[in-house]
Amino acid sequence: MEFIQINENQYYFKAAVNIGYVKQAHSNKGLLIDAGLDQQSMKKVLRKLDEEKLPVTHLFVTHSHADHYGGAAFLQEKFGVYTMAPYLEEAILRYPILASSSFFQSNLPIDELRNKFIEGQAIHIHQVIHEGVYEIDGFHLEFISLPGHSLNQLGVKVNDLLYASDSYFGTEALDKHKIPYIVDLEQTFHSLEKLQKINCEGAIPGHGEFEEKFQSTITANQEKHQEILHSIKEIIDIHPNGISHEQLVQLMCNRWDVVLTNMTSWALYRTAITSYLTMLYKNQEIQLDIIQNTLTVRKKEGEA
Ligand SMILES: [Zn+2]
Repeated sequence: MEFIQINENQYYFKAAVNIGYVKQAHSNKGLLIDAGLDQQSMKKVLRKLDEEKLPVTHLFVTHSHADHYGGAAFLQEKFGVYTMAPYLEEAILRYPILASSSFFQSNLPIDELRNKFIEGQAIHIHQVIHEGVYEIDGFHLEFISLPGHSLNQLGVKVNDLLYASDSYFGTEALDKHKIPYIVDLEQTFHSLEKLQKINCEGAIPGHGEFEEKFQSTITANQEKHQEILHSIKEIIDIHPNGISHEQLVQLMCNRWDVVLTNMTSWALYRTAITSYLTMLYKNQEIQLDIIQNTLTVRKKEGEA
């Protein structure tokens, strides 16, 4: 984990999951943006801040994925930080079983799904945040709605620097995941367009590097989603009589060289792939029917 200073008061911890840090000028307040996967990563963060004599008094969790909030319970225990989170996402942060349960079609999840990648420890939320500008204890924070990767993810702009969370991925992460995790493609596209137009002096994604000029990385994300969308259409096209949802997930994994090794990867990729499907459904390019008790995907009738 590397601690990188971007300007006088702004930093980020560069790791598999980045964590932002903002020191309030002329005060003893410091804000962490996200909290990492677990207690171990938070311990490293706190050790470094302690070494540098930097305070931590506030936490903003950008969205309710365990790799972004898993270290938060330990932080709250140690420092009782004032914690903020986006509306809706905050529900999962308070009741993390909602995440594993939703991945398991609302059933009480089996233990295999209740791991630290899906479910962090519950945390207390002091303030629920919506898109807009807030003055909180001397911090001037502009929260920007960037849904698509999760239901109500918020990025945050501080002094013209954007902590963009998982609204886009660095190119390395984009290649590694093959099919990036999203819950809705239409919203993802809107958020990426919004990012292209944001006026700021650089951005830090949740997975990737700080870039002053990050627009080409956003373009790479847009192209990747288009490519995946195209590939799912091709698979649907060569199955004119319909294909089951499960089989489509399997063929998409094969197409993109994704190997599902456990229930967690099954749940994540199944959700991501379904996001491309729901976009085609909303655009009336496909139909979803229950045929012989199976959710079946077909090209819309009457389409050439
Ligand atoms: Zn995420």
